[in-house]
Amino acid sequence: MIHGADVIDRTLCLRCTQGSGGTGRLPRIGWVCARHRRWLGTPQHDIRALPELVAAERRYRRSLAPRGVLVRSAIMHWARECAITGVA
Ligand SMILES: [Zn+2]
Repeated sequence: MIHGADVIDRTLCLRCTQGSGGTGRLPRIGWVCARHRRWLGTPQHDIRALPELVAAERRYRRSLAPRGVLVRSAIMHWARECAITGVA
């Protein structure tokens, strides 16, 4: 737990783990494997055609992760709502 939010268990990048998957706690990583350009949701997707997602991941790792902002924290849910509704 960091700043009151859980560090969730997630499936690791299937390319990084040579297809074996497995789960881990990755508090400094968002939803993208930057090395393989894969979305780390369920299921995992190739996102090479969506460079803006990798750019967003880099910004997350550079400015939010060092401050302890986790992928399922309240602030990230709030930011998602803002992005969806066009507020802010
Ligand atoms: Zn990977």
